[in-house]
Formats: sequence, structure tokens, C-alpha cells
Amino acid sequence: MIKFLDLQKVTAKYSEEIREAVRRVVDSGWYLQGEENKRFESDYAKYIGTRHAVGVANGLDALIWIFRAYVELGVMKPGDEVIVPANTYIASILAITENGLKPVLVEPKLDTYQIDDSLIEEAITPRTKAVLIVHLYGQCAYTDKIGELCKRHGLKLVEDNAQAHGCVYEGRKTGSLGDAAGHSFYPGKNLGALGDAGAVTTDDELLAETVRALANYGSTKKYVFKYAGRNSRLDEIQAAILDVKLRHLDEDVELRKLVARYYIENIKHPDIVLPKVDNWERHVFHIFPVRSGRRDELQRYLTERGVQTIIHYPIPPHKQECYKEWNGLSFPVTERIHAEELSLPISPVMTEVEVKEVVEIINAWD
Ligand SMILES: *Cc1c(COP(=O)(O)O)cnc(C)c1O
Repeated sequence: MIKFLDLQKVTAKYSEEIREAVRRVVDSGWYLQGEENKRFESDYAKYIGTRHAVGVANGLDALIWIFRAYVELGVMKPGDEVIVPANTYIASILAITENGLKPVLVEPKLDTYQIDDSLIEEAITPRTKAVLIVHLYGQCAYTDKIGELCKRHGLKLVEDNAQAHGCVYEGRKTGSLGDAAGHSFYPGKNLGALGDAGAVTTDDELLAETVRALANYGSTKKYVFKYAGRNSRLDEIQAAILDVKLRHLDEDVELRKLVARYYIENIKHPDIVLPKVDNWERHVFHIFPVRSGRRDELQRYLTERGVQTIIHYPIPPHKQECYKEWNGLSFPVTERIHAEELSLPISPVMTEVEVKEVVEIINAWD
């Protein structure tokens, strides 16, 4: 079988270095808020190109803490609006509603799956305080138009960079393009831990310090609590593992791109739409999404022939039970993407033979 993502193989590639890092932490006797966190935060900030990186427990918390920090700092208050793409993973939306803020869903473009920047301005109201862009599937969602709009309307620009570690826009990494960014290091992400982990990056020192406090019970000093925070820390073992994997991130991203390039150049089928890539720097292919009006049939066909695929995602946020109040809303482009999207296997450990086999099987589909 050709796996969607062979995590065992992904880890095995760096197993010696990972074991060495874990052993170092085990032997150190220091398991939280120590040197490993400091080193990873410093290396990750340098990689992304921001002044600060704050390690937190997971990617959802990273996004939650950014908005919570803005609320604590008086930049936003409950009831304020945040513009967000309608076709994102639920975590982007949860981070907004968790803080009593109101998500305003905006349709994506059908060809790139990224937020349609021509629809943002008409969604802005006097209550709008931020735009949360999501670099979905690993493709850069930022455009100069979005940056300019946010400046002109005095909005915070927040990035959900959970799927796009290593993505570059005009020489700058995603995660450094806005006011703050949330990163997930869920094991399956391009930069994945061996468990849950996340980070916030920003140039804003006050924001970074507020996030750091919120994720540590709201504490600014031992036993002094400025905010009613939570325990949402990154542990030393994960930080040590992430620092190892960060060193190999760029080469792994290049390997993903080789797979993507081969798919794009060789998959030829009238009922399959391939991803549109204008600029190869701006896509790190966390996911290789194709679309088909016969999606479910295609998935069944591939399963029968031993090719594992996943749908990202079967139900859009506005149709989820947890957001009943939106169930009646209509987002035709989003709904179409959710009805037609299928993600093909892609990873830095896929072999050439596997990639060729996937292409042959797809091209033979009738
Ligand atoms: C994975 C993901 C998250 C959440 O990250 P976790 O670490 O799983 O909490 C947020 N946003 C997007 C777009 C994601 O893909």
C-alpha cells in the first residue's frame, strides 16, 4: 500500500539525532521551560525571521493565545470581528470564537483555495479588528493587497502558519508577514514533533510576553498572576526534537516539491484539477490537493488500488454542528471545494517508484 503519509519513515530518517536529543533531555533532569525551549525558540524565530518565537502546547493554543493577548492588551474586545477564510480547518475558527470574537467568513478563490483578497474589503465593518489568513495546504495566502488593506483599515494581520513552515513570499517566510502567527507542530505537519507542540511568532515584544504569560497560568513572575491563563507550555523533549527537525526542514520541503512537480507534470486526466502554482517559493505542499466532480469515486478507485488518500476537509466549518447558527449560510466556492477535494500521498519520504505508481494509477482511471 502507498501510505498517505508514512510517519514512521519520516521519523526514522532522523532517528539517530532525535534519540540523541531525547537522551540529552532525559539525562538532564530538566523537563519544562529550560534550555531546550530557549534554543528552539531562538532558532525558530531566526528561521521564520521574527524577533520572537514563543513555544506553546499546540497550534490551536498558539492561535487562541494571539487573540487572547490582543483582548488582554485592549486591542480587541469580545464581540469584535475577525475576517477568516470560510474553507479553513476548524482550529482557525475555534481560536476566534474561544475568545468571544466573531468570525466573519470570506470565500476562497477556487483555483488557489486561498482567501479571495477581492472580497475582504466588503466584509470589513466598524467592529472588524483583524484578518486571520491561513496558508492552506502549504500555499502562501498573503498578498500585497491584504497587507495594504490591513494597514489602511488599522487591522491586525494574523497568520495561521500551521501548514506552511518553510513557505516564502518575496524573500520573507510566512509567519513573519503579519503582526503575529500561530504555528502547529502536530506530527503530520511539515515541521512535526513526536506529540503536540506549537509556537507563536511575532516582532511585537509586548504580544510575545503576554502570550508567554497566558500559556503559563497567566504568570509574569513566579507565583504572580497577571492574567487568568492556562497551562499550555511546550515541553523540553518536544522542543529538542523540533530543533533537530528544523535543521532538516528546508531539505524536506524540497523533497515535497519534487513529488508535487512530478504529479503536476505527469497527472493528465480530464476529470481531475491539479493545484495551481504560479510561484514555487510560495508553496510547500503540506497537502497535494486535487479536485474532481467524481471525488468519492476517485477515492474509492485509489483505495482499491492501494493508494491512501484523505479529504481536506469533508465538512466546511459553517456546516458543522458546533456552529449551528451558520448552518443556513451559503458559501458556494467553499462548499464546492469540500465536495471535490482529495489529497494525494505526499511526503519527504515517498520513493520515486511510489510517486510514479500513483500517477500511473490515476491516469488509468476511467
Ligand atoms: C493543524 C492545524 C491547526 C491546529 O494545530 P494543532 O497543533 O493540531 O492544534 C490550526 N490550523 C490549521 C490550518 C491546521 O492545519
